[in-house]
Amino acid sequence: MSRRAAARPPSIHKFGGASLRDARALGAALEIVQKAERPAVVVVSAFAGVTDALLGLAGDLARGNDAAVRKTAAELRGRYEAAARSVARPGEERQRLVSRVRSTFAEIEALTAAPGILRELSPRSLDHLLGLGEDLSARIFAAGLAGRGVPSEYVNAAEVVATDGRAGGASPDLAATDRRARAKLRPLLAKGKVPVVPGFLGADAEGRIVTLGRGGSDLTATLLGRSLAASSVTLWKDVRGFLTADPRVVPDARVIPQLNVREAAELAYYGAKVLHPRALTPGGRCRIFVRPFDRPDEPGTEISGRHTLDRYPVKALSAIPGQALVTVTGNGMLGVPGIAARTFSALHREAISVSLISQASSEHSICAGIPDVQADAARRSLLDAFREEIARREVDGVEMLRDLATISVVGLGMAGTPGIAARVFTALAPAGINVVAIAQGSSELNISFVVEGARAGEAQRRIHDAFQLSKIGGGRAAAPAHTDVVLLGFGSVGRTLAGLVVESARRSRLRLVGVIDRSGYVLRPNGLSAGDVRELVSRKTRSRSIAGARGAVAANADDAVAALAEHALSRPVLVDVTAGDTGPVLESAVAAGFDLVLANKRPLSARRKDAQAIERAVEKSGRRLRYEATVGAGLPVLDTYRKLVESGDRVLKIEGCLSGTLGFLLSEVEAGRSFSRALRRAMELGYTEPDPRDDLSGADVGRKALILGRLLGFRGEPKDVAVGSLVPAGLRRLPLARFLDRLEELDPVWSARLAGARARKRSLRYVATVTPRKISVGLTEVGPDSPFAGLRGTDNQVAFTTVRYRTNPLVIQGPGAGLAVTSAGILNDVLELAGG
Ligand code: ADP
Ligand code: ASP
Ligand code: MG
Repeated sequence: MSRRAAARPPSIHKFGGASLRDARALGAALEIVQKAERPAVVVVSAFAGVTDALLGLAGDLARGNDAAVRKTAAELRGRYEAAARSVARPGEERQRLVSRVRSTFAEIEALTAAPGILRELSPRSLDHLLGLGEDLSARIFAAGLAGRGVPSEYVNAAEVVATDGRAGGASPDLAATDRRARAKLRPLLAKGKVPVVPGFLGADAEGRIVTLGRGGSDLTATLLGRSLAASSVTLWKDVRGFLTADPRVVPDARVIPQLNVREAAELAYYGAKVLHPRALTPGGRCRIFVRPFDRPDEPGTEISGRHTLDRYPVKALSAIPGQALVTVTGNGMLGVPGIAARTFSALHREAISVSLISQASSEHSICAGIPDVQADAARRSLLDAFREEIARREVDGVEMLRDLATISVVGLGMAGTPGIAARVFTALAPAGINVVAIAQGSSELNISFVVEGARAGEAQRRIHDAFQLSKIGGGRAAAPAHTDVVLLGFGSVGRTLAGLVVESARRSRLRLVGVIDRSGYVLRPNGLSAGDVRELVSRKTRSRSIAGARGAVAANADDAVAALAEHALSRPVLVDVTAGDTGPVLESAVAAGFDLVLANKRPLSARRKDAQAIERAVEKSGRRLRYEATVGAGLPVLDTYRKLVESGDRVLKIEGCLSGTLGFLLSEVEAGRSFSRALRRAMELGYTEPDPRDDLSGADVGRKALILGRLLGFRGEPKDVAVGSLVPAGLRRLPLARFLDRLEELDPVWSARLAGARARKRSLRYVATVTPRKISVGLTEVGPDSPFAGLRGTDNQVAFTTVRYRTNPLVIQGPGAGLAVTSAGILNDVLELAGG
């Protein structure tokens, strides 16, 4: 490249953690730079999740949990080493990089050799540790560029970013950074090289590493943009741009084509996680873009001095969770000068950052939004500051409301548009969401208000609707209006369902984006193809785990859900097709924005408190829950219940034969087969669980009955369900093989049972009886006029006795087991969520 070209202003490209998640993402990022106009400077953050992992490691170190420290270090080393190998040219260079990775982690592991008192890292040592994540990313990225024939050079962040040295959240020294960045980077650019700078980091006065606060690599990029008078700064992220709201909270969020710098700064300051709160403070003239790294041809969002989209007085909203509201009140305050100022200096003394201030015009009270974790400190400091006024009764005292959230609506057009606050209230009132405080920023491009934390998500969705933000920019969706499906569990039902989802993708807008099993997960944000699914299925049928598949990540279910939630999935639905106790995972999925579809019976038939926790989490975050397939597979049992209730009927009792397996077994016995032969046949046909006693014990039917009972208002626990087992006590604990050996012993009992029933002209059925007060499941004899008498084979049958259907119950009957019907039932639930 000629010197003249290098003298042109450079462009800055910053890649966030998500854009450096794995080898594929790293490759995409490298390609963006390879194709970008030069001169260019790259800023990188640590790989996804690394900063959190290092923070966890520091905690483990302090707690003396050396095994955990080593485990984390080994995992991170594995990730970085694999990345280094995948991008660097083979040979000496790669060798050097790999040994760098190893020595870095050897340094980290060596921390475990420190004596007890040194294990609690000082803020500065912690910053050093955290900085290693970014530092390695930059070295690997530089090697990756070189590997693609792009001349590049790793740059030590301490040599370019100067700060005030406050560990954990240093503020940049703009003038010094301008000088250093120019001195260090311009010569490299002049040589035609692409400098690669670790983000998030700067130097204190002694040249030691400090961090700029979480998310600080955005700030590094804008700082360098200013210092080098860059032509543009592009922040490559995992979202399609700066959106009208956090997509994890407001699924309808849209890409804002252009934001004014003041608007973006306000949003970032008020909690929009997409930008570091101070990323726009360095100023400078260059335009900033937020763009999707996996769709480099999309324009994303431009942040610049322009003022567009006049039709939208409000352009976006953001929220800060975990807030408290402190209020100083008193009649005697009227006219006492300086109360406000003293309130703030009292908070300032404790280094409490105030998100919002509101003073009643009568001057009877003044209140401030502060972080909830600092509520106690704030109270103490204020009581102290107003001690005398309180004694004189001029100030009544200090009140504190906790667990709140501050929501900000932002837009330059607000200044000239009356009634914004009123529209906010009107949107919230019908839902009974109480606005605890409201404040109009002096900037007049922001109105902030405080609501109960638990209602914050719903409040944002309502405000988003009220200002029609989903139409902004022509309504280009934050992600196309797909419904992204993630499967939790990949057993036989999961596999069948995966096929159905992929196949229905053409007709519906479903997209299977992730599959999680015990070993790990696969994520394909653009959807798994039929081929991908075939590959996973073939692994599973060979008893191989998902974690070993191409592009898969080893993780437990909790971490997998967290990792998937990091992506801006579109209207995500998590489908639980496991048979495990997944309650906690489901709760975190809901909190992360997933709707839920359950085929797994355990979560909602668990202890009442645990089952309710899931339903509450769903309600609280405005998500939806469907679980039709937990009872009667694909039969519309819950749907019928819902329709009855919606039409004003009241269900008094539900009775049913809810086990296809037991139904089959009893039909065979009635047809004259011995019990042992009937059971062996059921096993051969794959109708039973691997240990048939799981079916015979009635536990599974008990769970279904409890799910139904809870619909009717049954308040008991699983132990309150009376379950009649078909396995005699003496055989319950035997190893499976021994149990099967002794099956024939049961035949005489069953022959006698059958003969007795026949003599009475009755049939044997395994029936669940569910009322709001009592649930029982077990073997009974039913008379010829019972609806259950005609039941054959694996069919299920459910009878609703209601106020309207009191003498002649409403009956639903059909296949209640089997892969095809179960998967179809689940798919129905998913489609219903996708359509609504
Ligand atoms: P980076 O990879 O650069 O560190 P971040 O993870 O910090 O990126 O920021 C992107 C994330 O911010 C998105 O995945 C999204 O979940 C979240 N987010 C919150 N509010 C917004 C918003 N208004 N627009 C876009 N993304 C948002
Ligand atoms: N890696 C740092 C963090 O996770 C900085 C960043 O991502 O911008 O906070
Ligand atoms: Mg970030």
